[in-house]
Amino acid sequence: MKIHEYQAKELLRKFGVVTPRGIPCFSLEEAIAAHQTLGGGVVVVKAQIHAGGRGKGGGVKVAKTAAQVAEYAGQIMGMQLITHQTSAEGQKVRRLLVEEGADIRKELYIGMVVDRGTQRVALMASSEGGMDIEEVAAHTPEKIHTVFIDPATGLTDAEADDVATRIGVPAHLLAQSRTMLQALYKAFDETDASLAEINPLVLTGDDRVIALDAKMNFDSNALYRHPEITAMRDLDEEDPAEIAASKFDLSYISLDGNIGCLVNGAGLAMATMDITKLYGGSPANFLDVGGGATTEKVTEAFKLMLANPHVEGILVNIFGGIMRCDVIATGVVEAARQVKLNVPLVVRLEGTNVELGKQILAESGLPIISASNMADAAAKVVEAVRG
Ligand code: GDP
Ligand code: MN
Repeated sequence: MKIHEYQAKELLRKFGVVTPRGIPCFSLEEAIAAHQTLGGGVVVVKAQIHAGGRGKGGGVKVAKTAAQVAEYAGQIMGMQLITHQTSAEGQKVRRLLVEEGADIRKELYIGMVVDRGTQRVALMASSEGGMDIEEVAAHTPEKIHTVFIDPATGLTDAEADDVATRIGVPAHLLAQSRTMLQALYKAFDETDASLAEINPLVLTGDDRVIALDAKMNFDSNALYRHPEITAMRDLDEEDPAEIAASKFDLSYISLDGNIGCLVNGAGLAMATMDITKLYGGSPANFLDVGGGATTEKVTEAFKLMLANPHVEGILVNIFGGIMRCDVIATGVVEAARQVKLNVPLVVRLEGTNVELGKQILAESGLPIISASNMADAAAKVVEAVRG
């Protein structure tokens, strides 16, 4: 689960991360008032969306006067902000963060993720703050310094100071950067985060170390332990199809292709997407209906795929183990009855009650293209979509 920058900062402050003073705003009036509350000096007006790269997209502006605050807040609030992390249509801005301006002398990068290889939290730090870290990793990987944090000790003083020195923190600011790094690790650890990133971490003209931006993602499987974080969820920022899917306990991820895939089992779903690609197609989604799906669940899954305007064909690939082929077939027929099926449908069924399943499909009168194996199914759906 993702949260907004202002929420991440509120959370991180509780652990001792230093951030500028800021006020979240839900309207233009609130933004103007926030500027006064912060003392009426220089502020930064920041779009709050669950995507990075806002600065380049015009979603972060420094305002020096009340008139500029009104002007920029008016421009940013409600805009469709397009960044390299949003879709091509961009994301509508519904919240702003008005924050006191900082006198930036140097922009640094620090981030933490879970590293599965070492089973530790990896701290990555770079002198190249304010940039996309992916760019730094691609072109100047030697400028990224990584520390794999031992869970028994946490981030030690020596490790924190060593990495800070490597990214250019001067000796007289090491105490501040140490506090910052150790607070970030504590926050990461205690909130079951999957990612925590401060980009940029800045050194200011008046010798302070401040988190100017903050991003946090959390492990969804651990959210039951953190009701206060769950409460920060903003459904406006999430894919409506994925929200609908979660209500029916379906594992659904939107992708940008045109072939809807309905599969039982995550492994088979991955393999189905791979083979679809291999045959020159492009999946519109990942969809695992699970092992014990009911007819109702399959029907909802089908409706979800058909609601996607980019879907030009559907591939149903089922291996009936716990899941019975007749249940899937009944769901497909029921869904096609409820929603007008106007795209080609390729079905590959195998396993428990396969004959009954095929019979249900055959008797439905639906124009179903049946496939004998996965390769055949992929070839047929790619062919059908090409028309
Ligand atoms: P992102 O583009 O979504 O990562 O948004 P950031 O919060 O990182 O802001 C983008 C850039 O805006 C930063 O790298 C800074 O260069 C600039 N910026 C943000 N806050 C301030 C500030 O208080 N003062 C000044 N001068 N620049 C700022
Ligand atoms: Mn940033």
